[in-house]
Amino acid sequence: MSLNRRDLFQRSALVGATLVGGAGPLALSMGRAQAAAPLAGVQAPAFFRFKIGAFEVTALHEGTASRPLDASFVRNAELKDVQAVLAENFLPTDTINISFTTLVVNTGSKLVLIDTGFADNGGPTNGRTLSQLKAAGIEPGQIDTILLSHFHGDHLQGARAKDGKLVYPNAEIMAPEAEWAFWMDDARMAAAPDAMKGAFAGVHRVLKPNAADVKRFKWGQEVVTGITAVDASGHTPGHTAFAISNGGKTLLYVADITNNPALFARNPEWRVMFDMDGEKAVQTRKKILDMAATDKIQISFYHANFPSTGFIAKEGAGYRLIPASWNSTI
Ligand SMILES: [Zn+2]
Repeated sequence: MSLNRRDLFQRSALVGATLVGGAGPLALSMGRAQAAAPLAGVQAPAFFRFKIGAFEVTALHEGTASRPLDASFVRNAELKDVQAVLAENFLPTDTINISFTTLVVNTGSKLVLIDTGFADNGGPTNGRTLSQLKAAGIEPGQIDTILLSHFHGDHLQGARAKDGKLVYPNAEIMAPEAEWAFWMDDARMAAAPDAMKGAFAGVHRVLKPNAADVKRFKWGQEVVTGITAVDASGHTPGHTAFAISNGGKTLLYVADITNNPALFARNPEWRVMFDMDGEKAVQTRKKILDMAATDKIQISFYHANFPSTGFIAKEGAGYRLIPASWNSTI
């Protein structure tokens, strides 16, 4: 027997009606399984664990943020072209949903959090790193080190709660020297256009109170045993990737070399509105994606769909993220 599409819909509508009505032969045959369970109405805890050599990496779903899509989102592409790629990916074409993923690396001797999300400084759909940590069995007080890729609010604000307290009280905060030099410069902040002043103020809120304790690093430096800072500048002046290596394996955390890779890996020339030096960001994006594709290096993004990690394939003039598969063992 073959089913055409109409048959299939009619049959499922029939089954649905029977179940909802509760009195048909199918419902009767299901015996006692008729009790209505309350709808959960919330997303499940979302953390994803994998290994890089002997290191254990836990990706945490920090949450999402949505913004209406308009022509300003990609500076150098037509809105209709952006919408066409979104539609091909079965994504909304009137809204951009930006996903955030923080990472914890357990090196065996250090528990390292890479980027922080928002904590309670964001909106209702983000700030979830803390609840994901809890679900993953990690207490904030256990984090030894926070590595910051750059100083945009979605990566940094979660280091300090709204009430001014450090969220990870025992963690040493480590930040790229070039990022520090740009954002912590009071004269540059005073001279910044009004649209940028809030971003500067946000950085100062988090880092000024403990400025003397923040450890600054340079590109090429091994910041934690097995984790090396890599120049990925362009998105911001000090934007940094981290190469996490153990046992002959490497994970490259690339932070914001793309916003959603469905758009910007596919079209590496496209410049998202958040890239501070668009031309340099394009060069960095191409260089890192090409290296990841050629050398088959696993990468983790901050803004891909959760769990935001996988491998890069070359496709046409661009690249595509092949997401990591769920495994019941790590
Ligand atoms: Zn970001």
